[in-house]
Amino acid sequence: MDKDIATPLRTRAILEKYGFSFKKSLGQNFLIDTNILRKIVDAAGITSETGTIEIGPGIGALTEQLAKASRKTLAFEIDQRLLPILEDTLSPYPNVKVIHSDFLKADAAEVIREEFTPGMDLVVAANLPYYVTTPIIMKILEDKLPVRAIVVMLQKEVADRISAVPGSKDYGSLSIAVQYYTEAETVMIVPKTVFVPQPNVDSAVIRLNVRSKPAVTVTNEEFFFKITRAAFAQRRKTILNNLTSQLERGKEQKDAITAALEKAGIEPSRRGETLSLEEFARLSEALLPAFS
Ligand code: SAM
Repeated sequence: MDKDIATPLRTRAILEKYGFSFKKSLGQNFLIDTNILRKIVDAAGITSETGTIEIGPGIGALTEQLAKASRKTLAFEIDQRLLPILEDTLSPYPNVKVIHSDFLKADAAEVIREEFTPGMDLVVAANLPYYVTTPIIMKILEDKLPVRAIVVMLQKEVADRISAVPGSKDYGSLSIAVQYYTEAETVMIVPKTVFVPQPNVDSAVIRLNVRSKPAVTVTNEEFFFKITRAAFAQRRKTILNNLTSQLERGKEQKDAITAALEKAGIEPSRRGETLSLEEFARLSEALLPAFS
């Protein structure tokens, strides 16, 4: 059998065979290190019963390892030019299905229903295209795709923001949005040298263990997220100033906002970056009547 796809030699041979040129605009940085790929597979806790979902298979480097370790792999690839290549490189793996689609536009829940048995252990594993890391993660979470975990390679800077704790410089609305749905942890920092072409930024692999229910209970999720985004709009401003300036009708509702902060036990002079998820949830509940 051929060597793994993700060796520098084999990758180069595949790229040359098809005359493939990388599209920077599609975030194409392919992995050429099988050790890193195995670590991703291990971190995802994949067994022969697991179904795996990949976004952006490229020439199949990670797809191959997922196919070997799991029952079935479903991969969404946006770049039409990669489809004949994948058909060739993944031909030894009948348990792989590649779908030509922009993951952000796909009805992923429907595709998953069609391709996997209900109740099956499912994980997302991917080396994400960096220009759309956050939208992809948020789509998986907001669409409530039935996955146990999401193990992805992304910019280290985004990994830091996702797993940040209150009071740290990286803590923001992204930390809250992701931690609302998952428990986040960084698995490893990854050097640029394991990619071709090498990206300009450092990378990391994170594992997001999807919670069986959100970290906090709120009446209106959309409103909760609106409050968190407003709270971080200008990081140096107080929570009271950000809410009055960012929320629609915020200025005329200043008294109601002050009262809601008091009800939630939050000093109006605090900055958004110091509030925990629980505090944001209390604030969202206290503010909701004035804004609905
Ligand atoms: N998985 C491969 C690897 O690790 O070598 C390739 C990873 S590369 C960082 C990102 C891949 O995502 C590319 O193949 C790119 O064409 C694909 N891609 C970019 N945007 C996409 C989107 N919106 N939906 C699906 N695939 C996308």
